[in-house]
Amino acid sequence: MQEFKLFINNEWVSSSDNKKFESLDPSKNLPIAELHLAGEKDVDIAVKAAKKTFESGVWSDLDPDKRADIMLKVADIMRKRLKELAKWESMDTGKPIMETENVDIHYAIRAMEYFANQSREIKGEVIPLPGNVAFDWISYEPYGVVACITPWNFPLHLATRCICPAIATGSCVVAKPSSLAPITPTILGEILMEAGMPAGVVNIINGPGGTTGEWLTGHADVRMISFTGSLAVGRKLLEVSSKSPIIKKVILELGGKGPFIAEPDCDIDGAINSLIVGFCLMQGEVCCASTRLYLHDDIYNEFMEKLVRRVNSLKLGDISDQSTQIGSLISRDQLEKVDSYVKNAVKDGATIVCGGEKFDEPPFDKGSYYRPTILENVKNTMRCAREEIFGPVLVVIRYRHLDEAIAMANDNQYALGATLWSENPKTLFYASKKIDAGILWLNTNVMSKIEAPYGGNKNSGLGREDGTIGLKEYLKVKNNVLFIGKEYDNFYGFKD
Ligand code: NAP
Repeated sequence: MQEFKLFINNEWVSSSDNKKFESLDPSKNLPIAELHLAGEKDVDIAVKAAKKTFESGVWSDLDPDKRADIMLKVADIMRKRLKELAKWESMDTGKPIMETENVDIHYAIRAMEYFANQSREIKGEVIPLPGNVAFDWISYEPYGVVACITPWNFPLHLATRCICPAIATGSCVVAKPSSLAPITPTILGEILMEAGMPAGVVNIINGPGGTTGEWLTGHADVRMISFTGSLAVGRKLLEVSSKSPIIKKVILELGGKGPFIAEPDCDIDGAINSLIVGFCLMQGEVCCASTRLYLHDDIYNEFMEKLVRRVNSLKLGDISDQSTQIGSLISRDQLEKVDSYVKNAVKDGATIVCGGEKFDEPPFDKGSYYRPTILENVKNTMRCAREEIFGPVLVVIRYRHLDEAIAMANDNQYALGATLWSENPKTLFYASKKIDAGILWLNTNVMSKIEAPYGGNKNSGLGREDGTIGLKEYLKVKNNVLFIGKEYDNFYGFKD
């Protein structure tokens, strides 16, 4: 079994108290790698390495062209190792190889390339001030040490979504991926070194959130926390920041309960196909998954008949088989959680139209497979329609008037991604103003590109990742005021 040490200061180091943990292939429930677990001392060493490198200026003061060149080299090496990274990603998360080869690793490579090029484009601004007495300009500066805390559902993509803008702006990073799927973000260490990244710019440590994660985010020298994960942990990190001797900049990318509204004039085939990706990609373990279908009465029967037929034809199975479309959930715990949501929904009055059970034909009984599930007769007030299930479960609610559907869509603690299908531009425009969401998909679904901002409102988070808007989250603003008037200030009228 492969062993991964901690990546600190461009060296592979053992955990100081020699603790290790295993990462499992959830589709087989078998260990695939052993990782060193960072103790409090290791966290401190990693943060100090990042801080020393940041303060040395070796990275933060480097010509942005040179910074970009190194990042582009990282992207090149990632591309050469794409198949290998995709294989690890699939085994570590339980996703089908078809997904990790075509989605996950490409996103990570694109993030490295996009933010490499953005590092050349960080510009200031000049502010015209009244009175012509001062030249005022704004400059953007890196925070220093950034902690990147990321979840298991897109391990390399979400780690790079945070690491890349942080280093592109000149900060140094300590990254802690989820201990449930830490392998590809850890392999990134090898690639960074091969590309010539200076020591200490990116440090990658592993261990559970409750210990390693807390030591990292609570460290006094961490100036910014970029977090992707659950609402519960997001709330804790706001507290950590508020209690730190120096408060920390925090950005949060949290959960979702994506609404999908299908109007009577929509392209039914297109809507159904995009909805299935919306709730089945990565077995539904996606923050912006479309998990609440608001379906207009006039097209209800035709839509449901085709939807159920297509969902039932999805192929579950061996994640290394290119034809497999649905893999395993991340863990037994997640499998039980999803199953109990479905069972409780039925108790609350919902009806199962497809799925609604574990997929446990041998040998898949060793993994954590759940059949894609659709629940009808759901009310917007039921738990299955309100909470993030994080599995392939779709609830369906009928409506008659668009305003009624929009009101139900907005009646949730989350506001990340939302979707509307209609062939009427007036409907699309009207709804775009009324729906509360960080990302609104109109006649498409779950399309997310590194170039455009990603994030949510309400309990879906604070701030945005990706694009130039995301890049700015990683930059502090400095307002510079240079006096250019005739006489210096003498506000108190001193004479001597
Ligand atoms: P999680 O339990 O909040 O964990 C996320 C990360 O935080 C992991 O690395 C975890 O480490 C770490 N962590 C846990 N407790 C911590 C603490 N007290 N202090 C510091 N770090 C801590 O979330 P998850 O179950 O991995 O991910 C699923 C959630 O992420 C869902 O709600 C999903 O919607 C959300 N998500 C959001 C986005 C987005 O862009 N908005 C994208 C993907 C996922 P360990 O896992 O090692 O314990």
